[in-house]
Amino acid sequence: MDDDDDDDDLAELESLSEESVLEHVRSRFYADNIYTLVGSILVAVNPFKSLGIYDNPHKPRREAHVYRTAMECYDAMLETKRSQSVLISGESGAGKTETCKHILAYVARGDASVEDQIIKSNPVLEAYGNAKTLRNNNSSRFGKWMRLDFSGRGVLGGGSVTNYLLEKSRVVACASGERNYHALYQLVVGARKERAALGPLPATPESFGCLMSGRCVTVEGLDDARDWTEQRRALDVLGVSVPEQSDAIAVLAAILWLMNCEFYGDDEGGGRAANVATTLAIAGPLVGVEADRLETALTTRTEQMGKGSMVTLPLSPSQAAAARNALAKHLYARLFDWLVARINRSLDSKTAAARPSTTTTTTHIGILDIFGFEVFATNSFEQLCINYANEKLQLVFNNVVFAQEVQTYEAEGVPSTALRFDDNAACVALLDGKPVNAFSLLDDECAGGAAARDDKYRSKCVRAFQGKNAHFSSSTHLYGFTVGHFAGHVEYDARGFVEKNRDALSTTLSTLFAVHSTLSFAASLFDDGAPPSPGVGKKKAAPAKKTLSAAFRAQLSGLVKALEATDPHFIRCIKSNAAKRPGCFEDTLCLEQLRYSGLFEAIRIRRAGYATRMSHTLFARRYAIVVSTAALGDRRRKRDAKRACETILADPRVAVACKDRSYVGTTQVFLKDAAVRRSLDALREEQ
Ligand code: ADP
Ligand code: MG
Repeated sequence: MDDDDDDDDLAELESLSEESVLEHVRSRFYADNIYTLVGSILVAVNPFKSLGIYDNPHKPRREAHVYRTAMECYDAMLETKRSQSVLISGESGAGKTETCKHILAYVARGDASVEDQIIKSNPVLEAYGNAKTLRNNNSSRFGKWMRLDFSGRGVLGGGSVTNYLLEKSRVVACASGERNYHALYQLVVGARKERAALGPLPATPESFGCLMSGRCVTVEGLDDARDWTEQRRALDVLGVSVPEQSDAIAVLAAILWLMNCEFYGDDEGGGRAANVATTLAIAGPLVGVEADRLETALTTRTEQMGKGSMVTLPLSPSQAAAARNALAKHLYARLFDWLVARINRSLDSKTAAARPSTTTTTTHIGILDIFGFEVFATNSFEQLCINYANEKLQLVFNNVVFAQEVQTYEAEGVPSTALRFDDNAACVALLDGKPVNAFSLLDDECAGGAAARDDKYRSKCVRAFQGKNAHFSSSTHLYGFTVGHFAGHVEYDARGFVEKNRDALSTTLSTLFAVHSTLSFAASLFDDGAPPSPGVGKKKAAPAKKTLSAAFRAQLSGLVKALEATDPHFIRCIKSNAAKRPGCFEDTLCLEQLRYSGLFEAIRIRRAGYATRMSHTLFARRYAIVVSTAALGDRRRKRDAKRACETILADPRVAVACKDRSYVGTTQVFLKDAAVRRSLDALREEQ
């Protein structure tokens, strides 16, 4: 590798500055080489144009390419019999999902029907989990871990999908120029046969408020009607029955009508509904709930007054609208969870069938397609969750790179005590450490009932961390606090944290559905694991619902465990420009992403020990001139390169520059940093 100066591989990490990495990646980009290896990381810059480089996945290739990374991953699995993973990250629109599909195209080799099913899960997940945003016309609004199971011979036998943190708020509103989830538009413009069963369903997205909140209906390059058909076919291939599909479609339609339901009246006068009768009369039957009961559940709340007596109080219009929104979000998110679970059931039966006996061991390749580090003008609860996930993944990354370094040191006989690296564990501890962390304090605050407040949460954090954790600082803003992430400082605004974390649906609504819906599918979207008690209207001792952050943290720790059981490969996707234009590389934007990618952490780890290394032969050839030929004697002639290196480093003049800053390993010479190398070079020049 030492003499290999392939310019698609920036393995010489020690000499890399931010500027030099950027320049290198940029010049390759303009030559249509979008892939570059930096150490063990594959950097992929989104070209926003078709390059014709994906025709032949299995053709042998030496250059940096997503297919080569896929090949290394697959081959490593066969060779080591260990499970592998590919971690793909990057900001929205950087090309993660496309990269994920390329990896899948390479590794999905096996029974054609299994392969087909796994690939067909994509259009379904994209219809329900993707939306048009300002950054990406087909933006995934959830994180995804896709596990592909292989037999010992490398034949694909099945797999599974895990989803993380679907963005629920989009179901009720989105930013101007953005859209709701694709599936909702697809249904409206694409459904034909299904329409009869859905009551009235105008084929115009303009008829539905929740499809119009971003004032954007059509998307360049997207054909909703065609995608509807494709997605339905994919469900067929996945073995999702027609009745099951109809159940899901009814819920989609119900959400559309539910969101059309508007509450008028002043906030004092109670939630008088303007068009409630008409909208709920259509929405109710779609989810098996009587329209009247649905109206009551949306517009009133029941409270216990003293001993056992209950009173029903009207909600204000804005409270009723909040209840409606919570219901729509819940329905959609649970529908998505159901889809994922349903897909997994199909894929899993394949895995089971492919397993001839329990003794056959299987290994897997996991592919992670997850939102990268986010910094916006205002950063809220969602950003804290996302950045926390990235912080955790960065720690995995640091550990892997660090472990690889230690391994190299051990193999070379270099004392690894020389390796000191301050990783991001302290920041991770701020977010999930014991005894308290930024999320546990939020859960505490949320447990405080009606008294819970965002500013009180923020004060709790200040009290617990200010001056105690170097990664936390309060900011002047009443709700502001700053976290020092590995990728930079981010100021969060705690407004809305309590409500978002609670993620609550009123018990009136959940009971209405869980107990009274005549459609078992709709009812099943409301059982939180516990089996519903049919017919009994009494309150069952519902287990305390997990907060959103608690559920997310539990998921993430599962993910980290899954990753730690594999040998990871890293791909960092970079968005070349904000306008999504082909052939345009914006320096500032790209450099920022390179920083967020954790690449420079790898360089720091390298620099923590002996950053520069050279083979014995190269070192001896280069620096023999510095010492007298007599000193070197016949060592050079005998081509004992290692001894020659030792002799060179023992030379008094050399020792001044290199003392304690160099080590001769089994096959390589290790130098502390580029400065040592430069002083050696200076001595060489003097000759
Ligand atoms: P992300 O998942 O990171 O948000 P996507 O994978 O959806 O981003 O990519 C966004 C868009 O960028 C795609 O729809 C496609 O138009 C373009 N794109 C991404 N990767 C490539 C690539 N390797 N070659 C050409 N175009 C790409
Ligand atoms: Mg995506």
